[in-house]
Amino acid sequence: MSNKNTEKKLASLPSVDELLRGPAGSDWLGLYPRSLVLIGIRETLNDTRRRVLDGEIDSVDSSVINRTVSENLYRLSRPHLQSVINATGVILHTNLGRSPLAPAVLRHVAEVSAGYSNLEFNLAQGERGKRYSHITGVLCEMTGAEDALVVNNNAAAVLLCLTAMAAGKEVIVSRGELIEIGGAFRIPDVMKAGGAFLKEVGATNKTHLQDYESAIGEETAFLLKVHPSNYRVVGFTHEISLAELVLLGKAREIPVMYDLGSGSLIDLSKYGIPGEPCLRNIVASGVDLVTFSGDKLLGGPQGGVIVGKKKYIQQIQRHPLTRAVRVDKMTLAALEATLMLYRDEETAIKEIPVLAMLTAQAPELRRRANRLARRMRNVLGQKAVVSVVKEISQSGGGSLPEQGMETFAVAVKPKNKSVSSIEKTLRTGEPPVVSRVKDNTIIFDVRTLQNNEFSLLVSALNLAISG
Ligand SMILES: *Cc1c(COP(=O)(O)O)cnc(C)c1O
Repeated sequence: MSNKNTEKKLASLPSVDELLRGPAGSDWLGLYPRSLVLIGIRETLNDTRRRVLDGEIDSVDSSVINRTVSENLYRLSRPHLQSVINATGVILHTNLGRSPLAPAVLRHVAEVSAGYSNLEFNLAQGERGKRYSHITGVLCEMTGAEDALVVNNNAAAVLLCLTAMAAGKEVIVSRGELIEIGGAFRIPDVMKAGGAFLKEVGATNKTHLQDYESAIGEETAFLLKVHPSNYRVVGFTHEISLAELVLLGKAREIPVMYDLGSGSLIDLSKYGIPGEPCLRNIVASGVDLVTFSGDKLLGGPQGGVIVGKKKYIQQIQRHPLTRAVRVDKMTLAALEATLMLYRDEETAIKEIPVLAMLTAQAPELRRRANRLARRMRNVLGQKAVVSVVKEISQSGGGSLPEQGMETFAVAVKPKNKSVSSIEKTLRTGEPPVVSRVKDNTIIFDVRTLQNNEFSLLVSALNLAISG
């Protein structure tokens, strides 16, 4: 392509003013703020200019430019953070926002944040109150702990405990528990950030009580146990139970902290989901501090909960870092409302989406998959082969590793389009649908789909396959 040709094309690009004064200009200005219209136009012109220079465009077409501006404006006018339909079957999908919130929880968040609240005001006394007072009671009630504190997330909870209790001192951890979870959270690194010195004991697969005993010294701040949330050490292994560690701590007068990670308030083994310790039992072991996430198995908002002995919680609360990782009223409202649902286990299982999805049983999932498949066949006709398949759902979010749960999914094989193009169209559509591709089919796991999403999903799929 000659330079002259390129220059001619660039010269034929309309100016911002021309576009504004053109027929579409008044439509745009009627629909969107002027500042946004200017951004949309400039973005489109810059992009077109680049594509001309790259030789991607043969001729500058004003109707294409107008259409692109309209598309860009529509996209820019909508929030970038948006809801998506999760058909992956991964319940605590960190990339998709982890835990969805219960309707009652959302109502409470809206109520508390739409106006003023008693966030730090003691209504009975008419004086300044404590931000955490709203949540301490229900957390202690649910876990059996003496006191509680809530911060931004569990990573912050662990960091805060280390900083407030162990800066300049040693923390003893088993080599089998030096975990890394997603988002670059590694126990040794957090330890460093908190100014504590990591004293590793034992071997990767085996740690004995003797290892902890002989590591304890003048400089020991506490013994730390970390729940291997996202992996399991299996085979020739030995770990010291929390109860044993607590006994040792008591005997040597050294506090014991447990980073539980997920933290479940109900005994999930009753529902056929073993391996995740129940918070009440953990606290009952006499452990001094426990930290866990609000948005993993608990099914609430992002948050880091610290529960344990009053004297340590108070010590932590006094540390200046607590202020830097404090939660806002929306988090507190969501967490309190979520915890209140746990007062009745049946209600919790029904209302808290994470628990409902986790405990959904195969026959019900099969029925729902059949219903979804029927609806897809009705609209797709001969355009795709739709079948119900047995699949495995994952709990995700660094919880219950290797615990694939039997589920039922709808597998769709389009006849005239590629599976990958359909997957992409769905993902970038409205609403976005995140699915999986397997064996040249698109898989929709009903475990993470809400019934009221079926219609949207079916029309999105129809659009993707027919469009
Ligand atoms: C998930 C997890 C964390 C981090 O929790 P966030 O709430 O994601 O910050 C820390 N420790 C363990 C053991 C975990 O499983």
